[in-house]
Amino acid sequence: MSKIALITGATSGIGAATARLLAANGYDLILTGRRNRRLVDLEHEINANHKVRCLLLCFDVTDPEQVSASLNSLISGWKEVDVLINNAGLAVGLDTVDNGEVEDWERMINTNVKGLLYVTRIVTPWMKARKSGHIIHLSSIAGKEAYPNGGVYCATKHAVQAIAHAQRIELLPFGIKVSSIAPGMVDTEFSNVRFKGDHEKAKTVYKGVTPLYATDIAETILFMITRPPHVNIDDLLIMPTAQGSARDVYREP
Ligand code: NAP
Repeated sequence: MSKIALITGATSGIGAATARLLAANGYDLILTGRRNRRLVDLEHEINANHKVRCLLLCFDVTDPEQVSASLNSLISGWKEVDVLINNAGLAVGLDTVDNGEVEDWERMINTNVKGLLYVTRIVTPWMKARKSGHIIHLSSIAGKEAYPNGGVYCATKHAVQAIAHAQRIELLPFGIKVSSIAPGMVDTEFSNVRFKGDHEKAKTVYKGVTPLYATDIAETILFMITRPPHVNIDDLLIMPTAQGSARDVYREP
C-alpha cells in the first residue's frame, strides 16, 4: 500500500515541489491550499506523470471551521495519513515592531501558528490511533534567530519550533515522528507575498546570491521521511551556501 502524505500550501513553492517529488516516489497525496485552480493543475500534472492518487482540499488554514470540515470530510482510505507536512505559511511586511501593521501581524500569526495548530490537532489523533506517522513542521532560519524588521514573522517561526519540540515529546509513546525543518532563503513566491506583490522589491532579496530552491527543500523533506523507523531527524537547519545567518548573505558584486 502506498503511503499517504498531506501537504498544506501545495499551490506554490516548497509545497508544490514536495508534492511533485513525493508523487515521483510513490506517495499518494492530499494537496491543500486556497487557490483551487493551482491545485487542479498540479493534480493534472501529477496524474500525467505518476501512478499515485491525489485528493484536493481547498481551504484556508486560518479558518478553524473550514479546516475541520475539510479534513473531517476525508473518508477511510484517505484518513490514514502517514506524513503531514505543515508547510502553509507566509511573511507579510518588513518593518520595525512600532511601525508594523496589525493586519500583517494577524495574517502571519493566524496562518503560521494558529493555522498550523488547527491542522495538527485534527491529523495527530488519526496518527495516534494507528501509532504511526510523521509530522514535518516548516520552520525557518527566522525560527532560530530574530532579525530587525522581521520580529513578528520570527516570533511565529519560533512558535513553530516550540510546537514541534513539544509534540516530539508528547508523541514519544505513540512512535510518531515529529521534525522541524528550518530553511534560509528559498526562491519561491515568499518574497512577493512579503512585499505584497511588489515584484521588483522581491527580486532584490535574491540579488547577487544563489538561494535555495524549492526542490532543495523537497529533497531534504524526502530524506527526513525516508529514514529507518528508529531514526528521527528532530530539527534541520538548511541554508544557501552564501548565507551564514538570517542577515549575513554574501552577494556577488
Ligand atoms: P510560497 O511560494 O508563497 O508558498 C506558500 C504556500 O502557503 C502557498 O501554497 C499558499 O497557498 C499557502 N498558504 C498561505 N496562506 C495560506 C492560508 N491562509 N491557507 C492555506 N494555505 C495558505 O512560499 P514558500 O517559500 O513555499 O513557503 C512555504 C513555507 O516555507 C512557509 O511556511 C514559509 O514560512 C517557509 N519558509 C520559506 C522560506 C523562503 O525563503 N521562501 C524560508 C524559510 C521558511 P494559497 O495561497 O493557495 O493558499
